[in-house]
Amino acid sequence: MAIIERHRNDVAIQGGELPEILLPTNCPGCGIGLAAPELRAHNYVCVNCGHHFRLGADVWVSLIADAESWQERWTDVRSHDLLNWTVPKRYQETVETLLEEGLNESVRTGTCTLAGKPIWLATFDFGFVGGTLSIVAGERLARGMEQAASSGVPYVLISASGGARMQEGVLALMQLAKVNAAVGRLDAAGVPFFSVLTDPTFGGTAASLALLGDINIAEPGAAIGFTGPRVIKQATYADLPPGFQSAEFQLAHGQVDMVLPRTELRPMLAHLLEMYS
Ligand SMILES: [Zn+2]
Repeated sequence: MAIIERHRNDVAIQGGELPEILLPTNCPGCGIGLAAPELRAHNYVCVNCGHHFRLGADVWVSLIADAESWQERWTDVRSHDLLNWTVPKRYQETVETLLEEGLNESVRTGTCTLAGKPIWLATFDFGFVGGTLSIVAGERLARGMEQAASSGVPYVLISASGGARMQEGVLALMQLAKVNAAVGRLDAAGVPFFSVLTDPTFGGTAASLALLGDINIAEPGAAIGFTGPRVIKQATYADLPPGFQSAEFQLAHGQVDMVLPRTELRPMLAHLLEMYS
């Protein structure tokens, strides 16, 4: 335990200064009014009830990576509407609007350091078509894992995803096999893979790489599963147990290895990097 305590004391809870994000004026968990600077200082976790706010990829990078260490890769890989998907509106139009708003696909990846140690980092962005696993996301994830495997640099993933991007049809589903094969390459090379599951991690993302980490870490209260409880109930006519598909439920049933508050994530990752090196 001494090593964990040391990391708790030595590793800052944030890698760099977190960007300001637009938030509801009251906490969705407990309803109290929130002061933005205080919330930011606590990694966007409510100090009253512990509600963990959803964060975009930019914030996750600032949270995990040491300041000034992030080097993003493959930002120019872009989605194309190969299936000419037009329901409810043109898929290409959706993608272009989000790109104009400054988001760059549902997965961003690159290299950085964490407490001075080099890592590959990939973060989903739920704001981009629900963080869906797309051709671009799969390509960025697989390329990063392949480079991590060949260079022996540990891989850290932050998930927040509704599953595979159905607007890309079977081509999105193929990404599950592709990223799983890339996880296999990390495994064969003996390179550690730490997977962090945030709210929500569902569908093809939970069914592929997000739950394949050497260590799977979930955020408190995060919804994690394959299909939502409403659909399961409709299909099975069964009453689902209390807390079904929460991070805590998944911990009790062996799907994740730990449920960890966001303020302890960086010290824990630093500890794991040291332990696995
Ligand atoms: Zn709260």
